Amino acid sequence: MAEKGRIVPATEEYIREASRIILSGGLVAFPTETVYGLGANALDGGAVSRIFAAKGRPQDNPLIVHVSGAEQATEYAVVSKCARKLMESFWPGPLTVVLYSKGPVPDVTRAGLDTVALRAPRHPVALSLIEESGVPIAAPSANRSGRPSPTSAVAVADDLGCAVDLIIDGGPSSVGLESTVVDATRDRAVILRPGGVTREMLESVVGLSGGCSEIAHRSPGTRHRHYAPDIPLFLWDGADHAPFLEVSGLKWCYMGTKEPPEDTGAPYREVIFGSLGEYASGLFARLREFEASGAEMIIAQIPWDDGIGLAIRNRLERAAE
Ligand code: AMP
Ligand code: MG
Repeated sequence: MAEKGRIVPATEEYIREASRIILSGGLVAFPTETVYGLGANALDGGAVSRIFAAKGRPQDNPLIVHVSGAEQATEYAVVSKCARKLMESFWPGPLTVVLYSKGPVPDVTRAGLDTVALRAPRHPVALSLIEESGVPIAAPSANRSGRPSPTSAVAVADDLGCAVDLIIDGGPSSVGLESTVVDATRDRAVILRPGGVTREMLESVVGLSGGCSEIAHRSPGTRHRHYAPDIPLFLWDGADHAPFLEVSGLKWCYMGTKEPPEDTGAPYREVIFGSLGEYASGLFARLREFEASGAEMIIAQIPWDDGIGLAIRNRLERAAE
């Protein structure tokens, strides 16, 4: 047996090995443009159960099923008109559509719901793995449940190590935040989780109903603790007064697109992102780096909720809960 938790380069040979592991019921971590996924054959209930066990993921939180495109999606879901438009505009890419399930995706993958979440990733390694395997791949983020998502192979190994049969290294994830999840079962789409495809982008293609207030009810995953580093995280809205700094004396790290609050003294480490896109792609990696640095707390600037800012805000708020 090959050693578990190995990090290997994304060569054709290793993608073939990974597809053999998937087809024999094992777990492969692989790069996508959003974050690294922990993949198993979505049609194999036993393999999918192993994902839940490896992550310590609550059983009531369904998995995203990764497909090669709209054609494969029709085998597993009733594709509505709304979903068809979304797929044409945003697939492959960071958009997951929730549709009524049909065909062979087992209950455990869907956490017993009558719907299934589908996404075609825009990453050559992820797409090759799906195609080479010939089956849809169920894959949540490849972190221990509740932790910041992994945007590199090393972050996967740190969290899951030997629980994974193979880790394919495709370099850092470009988007850095998870996909946008939308319910597309009806004429108007509902955003269940903000992500890499922005609300504005969705609105240019389909009608949207509901704000993000519906999120908590409609998407099981949003009920659970998520994205949290091991040290306290405080959010700063950019105003002059920053109450958490009264607890200071602690070693603190800072990240944001603007300079940290003025009256605070110097942070132990500081990252100023050049744009919201950089903030999105660097967010999880910085949370992990800061907690490993010996710092005692993190302060993150919370952006406005337009564009990708909405998804950054959502992750930060949940990580700070
Ligand atoms: P993760 O894979 O951990 O990034 O999370 C996937 C997200 O998609 C979670 O918030 C899930 O609750 C959500 N999700 C997956 N399947 C469904 C579904 N059938 N209905 C609603 N939300 C879903
Ligand atoms: Mg996750």
